[in-house]
Amino acid sequence: MTSHIETIKCPNCGSIESAQVEHTQPFYNYTHQCSKCGYIITESEWE
Ligand SMILES: [Zn+2]
Repeated sequence: MTSHIETIKCPNCGSIESAQVEHTQPFYNYTHQCSKCGYIITESEWE
């Protein structure tokens, strides 16, 4: 499976995170768990 890294900001604690985006079908998997607070960042909150 291919993937790439995007830099995003956690909406809960403001931490800058490096998130791995998996190239799943039919949509890419835009979810990431914040390493600081454990918040699950989803596509609608992606920055
Ligand atoms: Zn956070």
